[in-house]
This record gives sequence, C-alpha cells and structure tokens, in this order.
Amino acid sequence: MAIQRKASLPTEKDPVADKRTKNGKTPGEILAQQLCLRPENGGSLLGDDELKKGFDFCEDYKNFINAAKTEREAVSYTEALLKKKGYKPFAPGKPLKPGDKVYVNIHEKCLIHAVIGSKPLAEGVRILASHIDCPRIDLKQRPLYEEAELALLKTHYYGGIRKYQWVAVPLALHGVILRADGSSVTVAVGEEENDPVFCINDLLPHLSAEQNKRALSEGIKGEELNVLVGSLPFKDDKASEKVKLNILRLLFEKYNIVEKDFRTAELCLVPAFKARDVGFDRSFIGAYGHDDRVCAYTCLTAAIDTPKPAYTWINILADKEETGSDGNTGLNSRLLENFVGDLAAAQGLEGRHVLQKSRCLSADVAAAFDPTFPDVSEKKNNCYMNYGAVMVKYTGSRGKSGTSDASAEFVSQISRIFDAAGVLWQTTELGKVDMGGGGTVAKYIANLGASVVDIGVPVFSMHSPFEVVSKIDVYSAYRAFVAFLGA
Ligand code: MN
Ligand code: MN
Repeated sequence: MAIQRKASLPTEKDPVADKRTKNGKTPGEILAQQLCLRPENGGSLLGDDELKKGFDFCEDYKNFINAAKTEREAVSYTEALLKKKGYKPFAPGKPLKPGDKVYVNIHEKCLIHAVIGSKPLAEGVRILASHIDCPRIDLKQRPLYEEAELALLKTHYYGGIRKYQWVAVPLALHGVILRADGSSVTVAVGEEENDPVFCINDLLPHLSAEQNKRALSEGIKGEELNVLVGSLPFKDDKASEKVKLNILRLLFEKYNIVEKDFRTAELCLVPAFKARDVGFDRSFIGAYGHDDRVCAYTCLTAAIDTPKPAYTWINILADKEETGSDGNTGLNSRLLENFVGDLAAAQGLEGRHVLQKSRCLSADVAAAFDPTFPDVSEKKNNCYMNYGAVMVKYTGSRGKSGTSDASAEFVSQISRIFDAAGVLWQTTELGKVDMGGGGTVAKYIANLGASVVDIGVPVFSMHSPFEVVSKIDVYSAYRAFVAFLGA
C-alpha cells in the first residue's frame, strides 16, 4: 500500500501523556504504519464481495486448464474464443484503425492477438507475454514396443520435471499424428470419465532397497519413464510381438494409423485429472499446468476485457518457454519483432522504434514460500500465497546472470499503475541467492528494446503433475494485467 507522504508524522514533542492518540495508537505505531512496508494477506484485506468475484473468476479458469492441456489445445481454445469476440486474422500490409482486433496463429502452438489503440504506435505498445507450454512427457518417434508380453511406450520428457513425481499417476495422451498422405488426426485419450488412462510404473517398496540408494534426481531415470499401454495378445499363433501387434490393430481401427506414423506425430502424456479446489476453505486450485496457463488465462481475459485501449496492446501466448524459448514458436526468435514490425509498417514506422518505447509484462509464475521447505527461500524477499500478484524484478541465477533485470524507473511505473488500481501485489526472488535459479521470456523481449518486468502468480510444487495456486492471487494477477493494459 502507498505511503501517505503528506501525513504529519508524530514527533517526540507530541503532547500525549499516555503515548496514545485518539485512535488508540502509539506514535510509534502510527510512524510504522506510515513508513514501513507491510504486505498484507488478501484474505484479510479484501472484502467479501471482492473475494467472491475472485473465486468466481477461478471457476472459468478451471474450465480453461481442463480444456487446454497442451499448447496446441490452448491455441485452438483461444483462437475459437477470439473469433467469437470479433478478432480477424492479421493481414500484414492492410491498414488498421483504432479498435481493430487481430490475431496470428503461429504454427498451431503460439498465438499473438492485438487490439489497435487510439494513440499512434510511435508512442509504444503494451505487451503481455505468457507461455502455454508446460512440462510433460513426450513420446519418442519410435515409441511402441513389447517386453514381457506388455505393450509400452518410450518417452522423452519435456521441460524441467522431477521425474519421480510422474510415476504411478494417471496420465492422458494428447497430440496430433500425421499420416503418410499428410492428413492428420487429433488425439486426446484419458480425459473423459470412461476413457482409459495410461501410467508409468514404479518399483514396490519391498524391492526398492537398491533404488532407494539413488539420489532423488536419479530416483527415476529418463529411460525408466516407460508408459504402460496394454497386455492382450493378438490371437494368432504365428505372429511375433502379439501384444504390440494388438495395440497397433486398435490404433489402426481407431485412428487409421500405422506404426511409422508415430515418426510424424507429436504426442505427449499429461496428468489425466482435472483441476480441483484444494483445502477446507477452497482457497487454492490444484491442477496440472498452472505454469504458465494461469498467466496465459489471466492475460487473455484481461486483454479481451480491454477492447478499446489508448495504447495498442499485444498479448502473446508463447510456446517452448520450458525448453529455453528456442524455435519458431518460442520467444527467443523473431516472431514478436516481426509482428510489431508489420504493425509499425502500417503506420509508416520501424518496429524497433515502437519496441523501444514499449512496455511489457512477462507473465509467469513464481515459487511461493513453502513452510515445509523454508531453507531454500530468503523469507524477507519471497512471495507468499494470498499476498497477490507477484513482481519479479530479476530472474536468472548466481550474480544476476541470464536476466534482463527491470530498471527502477520501469518498476516504479508499473508499481504506480498497480497501486492506483488497488491491485494486491508483492515482490519476490526465486529462492535464496546462489540456491538455484530460473528464467522467463522477459529477457528475450527486453533484448528487443522494450521495458520488461515479470508479473505472475505464486505456485507450490511447480512443474509437478499437481501444481497449486491461490485463488486470490489468480484474481489479483488478472486485475494487475487489466490495470496495465488500461494505463
Ligand atoms: Mn513458466
Ligand atoms: Mn516453468
């Protein structure tokens, strides 16, 4: 909360015999209230109406994460929504006027949408950038095999997972398969109540004495992430690998695919369960993929709720963040630069001049303080559940390596926007200094010349199959993004 700078501070000369003012506070208490930074728990601070709004907002968010478990699904969900809201595919070279709504679907895995503002692009744009890819388990290109009369799939994990967390949990298979003739089929098995699911087996405790000696990071190794998909043999005495053959028969019947079509597929395993409220008070949401679809959703809704902006805004739902943002759907590429360049050209400008004046919130999650693991955090500079949207001035590791580190001036601009709108927000670092580290897309956008800072939502169990966020924080992030786009 903002300090009331004009308030008259109590002094030692104050004639308060019992050291109390008429409010019942001591001069010291009043002084502390005016001078000290004291973050507050949104659960205490927010009124019942505001809390209800936040909890209601999260019901729609749960629908989104249940429907969008891969970046492709997030893109098709978003594209369908944008079409309903009157967005048109962006056509470079075509003139745009204030209020025009455009989008670009980038290779089905990344999406940019924008609304043209009333101010000229020469004054810069407002950018929100989140990511819609999440850690998961991809299939290899030749995944299906039979061993001990079981059918299994070989996998290669995607992003920074703790492998031991992904065994013995129900998994759903999502993705796309291209057949030899170039036609494609979309796959989603394990989401409906009556669908089968898949799983990766772990060892029983009775026989895990040797495995227990491994370091936790090696508790389950990459090549042990093998997925159980069947056991019934094809009824024919002469064929070999009859269980595998039977699975191929089922896949052929259902999807009209043959084994070599796995080579031209992108299939991945994600947790099969849906988002659930967590806690007796239902204050949390547990789900797969909060990182970073919680920011993707809050940015998307904030953007849609800002249809007539002063400054042109651009909302990016990026892919590949979890593997370093490389590739033609990730932000360590020219895709944003090109999009801004095309917008700028329509107003006779160079993209770089627009980017130089632009502001961006890199929207990504942060690690919430967890009292079970206090040693990794520096308590005074860690974010807390229910304390609102979280600002991360710098990410990276060691001596601020690998971060764009937002300037004091830019942090001040954003802070003032949030405070003026009454947004509940806090600051954080990712754990203690030298404890570890991590990055976001912020630096790639900062490298283009824009001013960027990370804003997001605190998370427990990040990158696990069941991540946890606070509803108050989700709603606060939405309010933060609305304030940013409207300022
Ligand atoms: Mn993230
Ligand atoms: Mn992540």
